[in-house]
Amino acid sequence: MSDHVSTLLAEQKPETRREPRTGGGPPRRPMSEYVQSLMAEVKAKNPSEPEFHQAVEEVADSLSLVLERHPEYRHAKILERIIEPERVVLFRVPWVDDQGEVRINRGFRIEMNSAIGPYKGGLRFHPSVNLGILKFLAFEQVFKNSLTTLPMGGGKGGSDFDPKGKSDGEVMRFCQSFMSELYRHIGPNTDVPAGDIGVGGREIGFLFGMYKKLRNEFTGVLTGKGLNWGGSLIRPEATGYGCVYFAAEMLATRGQTLEGKTCLVSGSGNVAQYTAEKLLDLGAKPVTFSDSTGYVYDPAGIDREKLAWVMSLKNLRRGRIEEYAQKFSGVEYFAFDPKVDHNPLWSHPADCAFPSATQNEINGKDAEHLLAGGVYVVAEGANMPSTLEAVERFVEAGILYGPGKAANAGGVATSGLEMAQNSMRFSWTRDEVDNRLRLIMKSIHEACVGTAERFGTPGNYVNGANIAGFLKVADAMMDQGVV
Ligand code: NDP
Repeated sequence: MSDHVSTLLAEQKPETRREPRTGGGPPRRPMSEYVQSLMAEVKAKNPSEPEFHQAVEEVADSLSLVLERHPEYRHAKILERIIEPERVVLFRVPWVDDQGEVRINRGFRIEMNSAIGPYKGGLRFHPSVNLGILKFLAFEQVFKNSLTTLPMGGGKGGSDFDPKGKSDGEVMRFCQSFMSELYRHIGPNTDVPAGDIGVGGREIGFLFGMYKKLRNEFTGVLTGKGLNWGGSLIRPEATGYGCVYFAAEMLATRGQTLEGKTCLVSGSGNVAQYTAEKLLDLGAKPVTFSDSTGYVYDPAGIDREKLAWVMSLKNLRRGRIEEYAQKFSGVEYFAFDPKVDHNPLWSHPADCAFPSATQNEINGKDAEHLLAGGVYVVAEGANMPSTLEAVERFVEAGILYGPGKAANAGGVATSGLEMAQNSMRFSWTRDEVDNRLRLIMKSIHEACVGTAERFGTPGNYVNGANIAGFLKVADAMMDQGVV
């Protein structure tokens, strides 16, 4: 390990839970007048929602380029309308735990924009869930879904329920109670939820079962379903695989491949696991995994056998990543310390980084550590894992930086393919879905590159993704009038 990394790691204190940190690094460049006045309004109207402000600011910054060229969008207040959810549903979710005690959680569904199709976006079950976090995710989803080329609007939902440490029975009773309200607001042509943090195959099964019972109909109202009851092959793998395909496309612009590249991966859930699997398929070497309590660094590389062990640990035994360091030799485990102003996972030398855990897990300081460690490809599996400061560092450094709304769009794209298969009552083969996923990631990449160039910022995937995603939704909204 380098001295640089050792010093950073020495600052860590063990056994504490980590929350995402913002800030760090030098100050950001000033905002344009338009973005400044828009942001003042957004902050006044949506107080205490910092993640939502952050997501809006990043998009608005890119869109000032479009709004200058197309005053008609500004005149029709398209962006101002996109920022306001079409509908927000907030509800009580009471359930009974294994000790017979009544518990109460809060449920949400944000129906953000339906200009190009039914609302579509995941459900997140995590104690940090609140209105602002779900609004940022729903807002991002509008642009992401538009980029996939499929007809899907944007939405997001979830609860502050924490599935960690709960029995299967408790998770089932919670999901049933959650769906006993949500079913009124969703449907295959209205709003089609899927999984996200804390919502995997088990939870989708319980949610679907309750929906079917209440509605007395079997429809494709949720995606991420089991294979023998309407699910699509490759859906569980899609976000991670798609993110790696996107990284491969970015590298191809420089005549390079992932073969032999050392990769930092954060998280150890659905997205992280299948990112690692595809990296191995393409000859790269993942060396880290994390969860909310700490991370492991395995300089020899996480091979297929170790990955299979992690999948069993996380998906079946539901254990902590720390156990990886006890199971395999030559591995170091580092507990996260909320008092430390950076995440040492990002300080290890590498070529590529795949943040796949949660929002704001890379701040300005982390971005500088990544660049200092040699990273020149960042493909975001997670949603908004980089703070605005970090994004600015990456863009200024001219590295291959693929923002989440483009790089992780493979998940929702394959959900779109699941919806298509459900409508046709037909299933495509694994290869067929994988090929479609690859083509979609390629076309998203092309759209980002082409749009960034067209708007005078070649190589800037942030502008490319935000503008390309916006234009399709904006044109549909112009056609549909003020609704
Ligand atoms: P999972 O619940 O399967 O895994 C989440 C992983 O991130 C876990 O390892 C979890 O650790 C870790 N994590 C969660 N919160 C924190 C936190 N506050 N600090 C540190 N680590 C944390 O979720 P997914 O893999 O599905 O989702 C990961 C990211 O990818 C999210 O940002 C999600 O929005 C995004 N995404 C997911 C898609 C999908 O198809 N699933 C599609 C597109 C984006 P622990 O278990 O300890 O909480």
